[in-house]
Amino acid sequence: MTKPLIVLDIDGVLADFMYGFEKAMGGPPPNPFEYNLLKSYPGREADVKLHLVDPSLYAKFPVVLGAKKAVKWLYDAGFELKAVTGRSKEGGIEAVTRAWIKKHFKKAITKIYMVPSKQKARFIADMSPAFAIDDSPANVRDLLECDVRGLLFSQIYNIREELPRMQNWARLIQALKETAQ
Ligand SMILES: [Mg+2]
Repeated sequence: MTKPLIVLDIDGVLADFMYGFEKAMGGPPPNPFEYNLLKSYPGREADVKLHLVDPSLYAKFPVVLGAKKAVKWLYDAGFELKAVTGRSKEGGIEAVTRAWIKKHFKKAITKIYMVPSKQKARFIADMSPAFAIDDSPANVRDLLECDVRGLLFSQIYNIREELPRMQNWARLIQALKETAQ
């Protein structure tokens, strides 16, 4: 039997992008209600853009709360896990991303795909996952349009969106345990 597949976004789902970015900028924290980092640092846009293309930024991101434990649980429960990210392949970011996933998630996530955001939903639909998790409302909307069961990973910047969502990693695992009973 093939294992049910779960597709995971990286930034905002596995990697704590906002916290990592605050450190890189030397503070203050990005506006938690704003998904677009450029809008969080008025007057410092050039600096934001420089950090976004710097691979060392991505190496330092902490793991989202509960993600490590939950991914291990899913892997042990027999799910197949793949990451699909809109991060650029350019300038060493791909190598840093692969190393970061390997460091934190070991053998649980071995397949990582770098796909431009606009093509992500189609790409994921072709993988026929059981569901796909993303923190971007636009990406989840695209997934639903492609008949993929998309779940919006709750973050302050997406809290007002009316979309199927998961509150956090612990709640997802709890829900899966309950449905398995
Ligand atoms: Mg994301």
